[in-house]
Amino acid sequence: MTNYPALKLHIGGAWRTADGAPVINPADESVLGTVPHASRSDLDDALAAAEEGFRVWSRTAPAKRAEIITKATGIMRGRIEDMATAMTLEQGKPLAQARLEILRGCEIMEWDAQEGRRIYGRIIPGEPGMRHSVLRQPIGVVAAFSPWNFPMSSPARKVGGALSAGCSIILKASEETPAGAVQLVQAFVEAGLPAGVLNLVFGKPSDISEYLIPQPSVRLVTFTGSVPVGKHLSALAGAHMKPAIMELGGHSPVFVCDDVDPAATAAKSAIGKSRNAGQVCVSPTRFFVQDAIYDRFTEAFTEQAAAMTVGNGLDPANQMGPLANERRIAAMEMLVADAKARGARITTGGNRIGNRGYYYPLTVVADIPDDARAMREEPFGPLALLSRVRSLDEAIEKANSVPYGLAAYAFTNSARNADQLAERVEVGNLSINHFVASSAETPFGGVKDSGFGREGGVEGLQCYTVVKNVSHLMA
Ligand code: NAD
Repeated sequence: MTNYPALKLHIGGAWRTADGAPVINPADESVLGTVPHASRSDLDDALAAAEEGFRVWSRTAPAKRAEIITKATGIMRGRIEDMATAMTLEQGKPLAQARLEILRGCEIMEWDAQEGRRIYGRIIPGEPGMRHSVLRQPIGVVAAFSPWNFPMSSPARKVGGALSAGCSIILKASEETPAGAVQLVQAFVEAGLPAGVLNLVFGKPSDISEYLIPQPSVRLVTFTGSVPVGKHLSALAGAHMKPAIMELGGHSPVFVCDDVDPAATAAKSAIGKSRNAGQVCVSPTRFFVQDAIYDRFTEAFTEQAAAMTVGNGLDPANQMGPLANERRIAAMEMLVADAKARGARITTGGNRIGNRGYYYPLTVVADIPDDARAMREEPFGPLALLSRVRSLDEAIEKANSVPYGLAAYAFTNSARNADQLAERVEVGNLSINHFVASSAETPFGGVKDSGFGREGGVEGLQCYTVVKNVSHLMA
């Protein structure tokens, strides 16, 4: 297929082929290619290569590391059209969003690369003749697992953090959307990254994680995906005394206070919700809207959602593409049927579009009761759940009642409201008056079941390091 790359493993600086499984285009259910599955001996080779890669890369000057990483992102930026097309083919998101994801992945790695030059230690004053030096050293070989919803920026988060801190990495990217990782690795090969520093494998996810995580050379586990899998992998990492970064699901509340314009906020909300067809861990989902503006907000949101064009992401006229796989359609159907049975009103959407390709419209579920399954389980799709609240206190209490704690959004012009939200909402990231949950320079991650550790910012890079204190008594 034109514009869809050959899919290969990358181990110890060389590409490898293997038998595997088909990759499906969610827009029409056609087969795009075959993703190779790594054998046990491929994984052993990747481990050996990553150990050697770590020896070389951890002793490479940070400025040289930054130069190679930045060269790779320059190559990716030059290929943005081909890469975006491949991403839309395998994942479904509209081309414009695919381009933005690639740029975002590049920005993340470029920021990390420069910050990698500033992983400073400390000198702690001691008694005369004694010097305590605190060093931050790269942790070692990283085993990384990235999901299907962001085929480029999620691998970029992990590769950028690991390589900028001086670590080597074995990346198991998504088998459902593998092209982004293959193209990213290709750019690093061309940029001159030493062999073994960045290895790429695919396969049956549980077989790979259960084999790699206990290996003595693996020193850190990073996973982005669902809460149940995250709990399983962090338990496995804990059993082998490995630290982990867990970027798991969310169920983002949106606080719409009665001091904002309901129509303008609804318009922004519809666009925020439609991004990647809602298949985003930070997707705005539970809209707690204050009584005075609830009806106007619901009406405006419904109008905006109904006007949203849904279709093949390769057509620039479409604002929302298909869902990435059939599992998401089944989940939307189940959650909508449950909400309706409990008395919610579907003001637009609510039914699958067509029967070829995984299309589902932006769906507004108004007056949703608190006990609806969608209010407690992450929908991970284009459902906007609207709940009427009397006060900000009530909204905060409801928002905090789920085990998730990743991102939250609020719309208000009141400093008091903003302060209350900042103090009391249980999340890792709160955005007030906008829908951007993270950027390259800010720490991103969750609390409660949404995980631990951070990606991005100084805090993110520090997760790829260990602290060593050296006490030196001058002779
Ligand atoms: P899933 O729970 O089967 O898988 C989630 C991800 O984990 C996938 O990328 C999968 O390849 C990987 N995975 C599964 N088992 C694994 C294992 N034993 N070892 C290593 N990796 C493993 O669910 P799904 O149907 O693919 O996705 C739907 C759910 O996943 C959503 O409800 C959402 O909560 C979550 N999800 C979250 C994110 C995120 O950005 N945090 C991304 C994708 C999916």
